[in-house]
Amino acid sequence: MDFIPYAKHLIDDDDIKEVVSVLKSDWITSGPKVEEFEYEVCRYLGAKYGVAVNSGTSALDIAVQALGLEEGDEIITTPFTFVATPNSIIYNRCRPVFADIKKDSFNIDPESVRRLITEKTRAILYVDYAGQPCDIAELKKIADEHDLFLIEDAAHALGAEYDNKKIGTFADITTFSFHPVKPITTGEGGMAVTNDASLHEKLKILRNHGIDKDGRERFGPDANWSYDMKLLGRNYRITDFQCALGLSQLKKLDEFIRKREKIAQKYNRELATDGVQLPKFHENTRSGWHLYAVLLPEDIDRDRFFNLMREKKIGANVHYIPCYKHSYYVRNNITGNCPVAEEVFSRIITLPLHQGLDDDETDYVISSFKKSLEEVR
Ligand SMILES: *Cc1c(COP(=O)(O)O)cnc(C)c1O
Repeated sequence: MDFIPYAKHLIDDDDIKEVVSVLKSDWITSGPKVEEFEYEVCRYLGAKYGVAVNSGTSALDIAVQALGLEEGDEIITTPFTFVATPNSIIYNRCRPVFADIKKDSFNIDPESVRRLITEKTRAILYVDYAGQPCDIAELKKIADEHDLFLIEDAAHALGAEYDNKKIGTFADITTFSFHPVKPITTGEGGMAVTNDASLHEKLKILRNHGIDKDGRERFGPDANWSYDMKLLGRNYRITDFQCALGLSQLKKLDEFIRKREKIAQKYNRELATDGVQLPKFHENTRSGWHLYAVLLPEDIDRDRFFNLMREKKIGANVHYIPCYKHSYYVRNNITGNCPVAEEVFSRIITLPLHQGLDDDETDYVISSFKKSLEEVR
């Protein structure tokens, strides 16, 4: 058995054909394929506006910037995420305030959010961990009560559903990532989605240095040379050949999710053992199943278990180290007090789950999991 990674892209000949055809066309960046990708993602989500950028991190950065907050404003977020989430707050000179998570979903705990609200709180930035939607109704209620913005980091949750609606229109801005480990890929890439026309306008220009006209608007015999830089944006543009890959991948997204969902169901059936906390299928939601993460029994040494899995060539992983434990955060005194996140971190392990995982590999992961549990005890 070859090494089995925890996540992996699946690219076929159709995908490659689409990319090559764009490489032979006139527009290879900021062209028609970018718009088409934005349009199709929005159509899939039932959203109004999408701005495709060069990474999920860039999408988060412009999402926070588009809110127009002031230095020192606070944004409540989860520590149980990839560092890009709270980093986007710091890029914009605001302060990440870490709320604790819930032990059943590993998602931000609305009760903890409530306790952390101050005069300076302006927004809640929540993450749908593993593709499992947060308690969005409760977060919206808090946002309404305290007049806060909501940003949803849905890097894991493209195609996931809450109340029979796709994730993408619940928050003021929702962001996605198209990194190869994510639900669909463009190599690197991301998108910020909103139903608000003025936020859309800001997101669009922030992607392109804060300039009010893009390359296509300044091209051709009838175009004028003038433009204005309105905001301090950056170059977060994405290429047309990446968006061609994204368009082709998007057609397969529902099939990818069904495959991952089936594997997750099989894991749940086969791995049910005393003391192991398996992911739940929550009511009113459909997970995108980006990750399959379990809590090991309290008496199991997670790191020894991890090594036993890696020895069996299984790309087990740990998602995530609570962000405030990273040395940059410690050095800059950006702290958190999240006992649930810390306990979950000490016991959690991610098992391989992706659309390319076949039956043999799935069975091998299951038998290796059981064997490693026995070995560690
Ligand atoms: C992957 C990821 C990001 C960043 O996306 P990139 O496309 O890698 O920049 C942000 N947030 C979460 C939760 C992620 O998993």
